[in-house]
Amino acid sequence: MSEPEAPPLLPVTDDHDTGPLFEAAARGELVVRVCACGEVSHLPTSYCRRCGSSEGTWRPVSGRATLLSWTTVTHQLHPAFPTPYTIVLVSLEEHPQVHMFGQLAGTPDLTADQPMEVWFQQLAEDVAIPQWRPAG
Ligand SMILES: [Zn+2]
Repeated sequence: MSEPEAPPLLPVTDDHDTGPLFEAAARGELVVRVCACGEVSHLPTSYCRRCGSSEGTWRPVSGRATLLSWTTVTHQLHPAFPTPYTIVLVSLEEHPQVHMFGQLAGTPDLTADQPMEVWFQQLAEDVAIPQWRPAG
């Protein structure tokens, strides 16, 4: 049984490496950081893991993905995360090597490789984060 819900935990949205991801999410867009060498980094870093370059651009992606794996959390560790909830791991359609996590409330009926779509959870007036749900 879950404890009463607490205010959401807010991410740091003005970080040099990840700020553009949150800026895009706040306007309802999913972006990834792409290096000139073609490497897509997620989680974003200030340098490319492949070539070491610090030059990168943020590019929008469709928000379509494939479900790789999931697990349901039933033991509540923090009041901001009422249980049960399900953590999903998805692979982006345009960049299958890029994996992102998301959180779904409850114990949804999921199937490996099923299509997923991004949505943006509004945590505060100007703070949103990408989340994933079964494609409608
Ligand atoms: Zn690179």
